[in-house]
Amino acid sequence: MTRPAEGGIFFPLGSGLPVEVQALRLPPTSKRSIEPRRLQSPVAELPGVGRVTVRRFRDLGVTTVGDLLLHVPYRHEPPARVVSVAALRAGEEATIRVRVQSCAVKTTRKRGLKVLEALVADETAMVRAVWYNQEYLVAAFAERPEILARGTLIQRGGATSFVVKTHEIVGAGSEGLHTVGLVPMYPASGDLSVKTIRTVLGKAAPYARHFVDPLPSALRAARGCLSKADALLAYHFPAALPDARAARERLAFEELLLLQLALLLRRREAQAERSAEPLPSPGALTAAYLDSLPFTPTAAQRRVMSEIDGDLARPVPMRRLLQGDVGSGKTMVAAYALVRAVEAGGQGAVMVPTEVLADQHAARLRAQLAPLGIETRLLKGNQPAADRRDTRDGLARGRVGVVVGTHALIQQGVTFRELRVAVVDEQHRFGVRQRDALVEPPPGRPWPHTLHMTATPIPRTLSLTLYGDLDVSVIDELPPGRTPVQTRLVFPEQRRAMWALVRKELAAGRQAYVVCPLVEESETLQAAAATAVFEELRAGELAGFRVELLHGQLPPAEKQAAMDAFQRGEAAVLVCTTVIEVGVDVPNASIMVIEGARRFGLSQLHQLRGRVGRGAAASRCLLLCDHDDPDALSRLALFARTGDGFKLAEADLRARGEGQLFGERQSGLGDLRVARLLQDRRLLYAARREAVRLLEGDPDLSGPVCLLLAEAVEERFAEVAHWLDKA
Ligand code: ADP
Ligand code: MG
Repeated sequence: MTRPAEGGIFFPLGSGLPVEVQALRLPPTSKRSIEPRRLQSPVAELPGVGRVTVRRFRDLGVTTVGDLLLHVPYRHEPPARVVSVAALRAGEEATIRVRVQSCAVKTTRKRGLKVLEALVADETAMVRAVWYNQEYLVAAFAERPEILARGTLIQRGGATSFVVKTHEIVGAGSEGLHTVGLVPMYPASGDLSVKTIRTVLGKAAPYARHFVDPLPSALRAARGCLSKADALLAYHFPAALPDARAARERLAFEELLLLQLALLLRRREAQAERSAEPLPSPGALTAAYLDSLPFTPTAAQRRVMSEIDGDLARPVPMRRLLQGDVGSGKTMVAAYALVRAVEAGGQGAVMVPTEVLADQHAARLRAQLAPLGIETRLLKGNQPAADRRDTRDGLARGRVGVVVGTHALIQQGVTFRELRVAVVDEQHRFGVRQRDALVEPPPGRPWPHTLHMTATPIPRTLSLTLYGDLDVSVIDELPPGRTPVQTRLVFPEQRRAMWALVRKELAAGRQAYVVCPLVEESETLQAAAATAVFEELRAGELAGFRVELLHGQLPPAEKQAAMDAFQRGEAAVLVCTTVIEVGVDVPNASIMVIEGARRFGLSQLHQLRGRVGRGAAASRCLLLCDHDDPDALSRLALFARTGDGFKLAEADLRARGEGQLFGERQSGLGDLRVARLLQDRRLLYAARREAVRLLEGDPDLSGPVCLLLAEAVEERFAEVAHWLDKA
């Protein structure tokens, strides 16, 4: 491999250096000295970098030599063989070293592309080489006809040509950088070619030594890490793939470690700013609650309850995320935390994203808590004003122990006498500000303990990054006695038979959901689609059964009526949109039909499917699909055979990227330069462990060993605090 020549590129003092650097009167730099401030030199100081290139780099966010060196490749092209022209084989990428004999520019008839055609030859043969849209090369070749060209020999019709992907002029100082050996590929912007980036990087390479390595040396030794400078050089200019891989790992590990430290430091900080009232140990009321349950908690539920007990005993507010698949029994755990709050003389609040869910939680909690003498109230947008007033008054005076509500809880200026535990269900539907608005106490008062819940299983890679600032509990065990939901793909020609099956179930006294296709563009369209399906079924396949319609745009009273009718078993079928995705619980519903299944993400389908299989009866989930989309079919087939929400979430993550799953919170992760969550999960776990270990030894990273690390965290992820506050 060819390394760029090293000599002579340090900038002369006193010429165009930033004033503050000049003022320091640095001695002329020796090649051996390490001077991090040299990384601040503008890219313009590199030889051969003109104003246009500087501007184009700026568009990529690269202004200094340091930025440039951190602009890392996203992959490396394997080496192309260097062969003689005679040895070129059609269809195989190779590099030839040739002399340009003659060239001409032609314009293609169809699309008007400018094509540069040149006859090139070495001592074995001659071939017609072709470049697209690079007619300006004619002049360059006239001056220096010796070139290295990397490309592919194409034979079409009777014609043979060598289509050049990249080339370089021999003797221009960067021989082989672009065509021979492993070639790093950079994320380039439209105007700045990968080739220019590589050339300029060649000039910047000697500066790599000026990077301070933030990793403590003991850690480096333990992991067998390259130094930062070595890793950067090896990544930009690897001799072989394993070198590139080792270098990438080193850089990715550093990045993930800094991120984990930033997250954990942020959590410490948030907790230091907020104090909470430790709750006394569980007593008679809590015992009565546990006794009153109609079932024995699973081992996973017991484990989470004891994790919560641990949190509640501390003088800092609990910040725990409870994840559990649909039906895993999160509600009883949440109720446990609420009872603990009331027993300690305080109050509990549950905030949920939809009114349907609010009604349901309120009804269930009321049934469980009333026998314990705890008054539970519901607070939502459309309620008689007198009810709302009464609830608010009860909360302010402490008469009401538990309140369940929608956004109304925060919009209507509810004050609590003593809020001790707040539960936020489907927490990803709320922003941090909304959650804080619920829990922020009057000045000087303690913060409540907060339990966030989500039924969307989050792969550990994501929860460690997105929610790295929360403690995470997982209920990874379903209550006993559940029969898995039978899931089947149904093709158009099987629809009649499917509806016959649905009718049979309904006739046997079961109930069914029919979920309408997802229309992401507009709620109005979505509602229209649901209405159409509803009308059609009511008059057609499901004539004779009571069918109800539920979608987000119905007036609240109609929504309520539809839900009630279905919940009470008066309606046999609920035609609905994804409003039922969260939390609706009708154990007698044993069949779910999902129209246009391919439009949903697997996690979302999993949420929907979780609405059936809640009772003793064997349940079915039927996915309507077409034959004509193989990708969709294989996704749906995976769904049909997988009941594990975490596996499905990972599949979604692979197929659709992180952003699709978790929206705003991940936007801050767009900043990862080297690491990739899925690919680097092993490194991520290692980084998390290392971060926890380092902070155990040095809680704010102020000791001498971690000093450089702390600075690097600040420099690289200062914005973490910012996006955690926003998301
Ligand atoms: P999630 O909110 O996690 O989706 P729920 O809390 O709604 O799940 O629980 C689903 C159903 O399982 C409820 O009907 C609940 O009463 C029941 N359940 C919860 N825990 C247990 C358990 N340990 N044993 C039996 N049934 C349980
Ligand atoms: Mg639930």
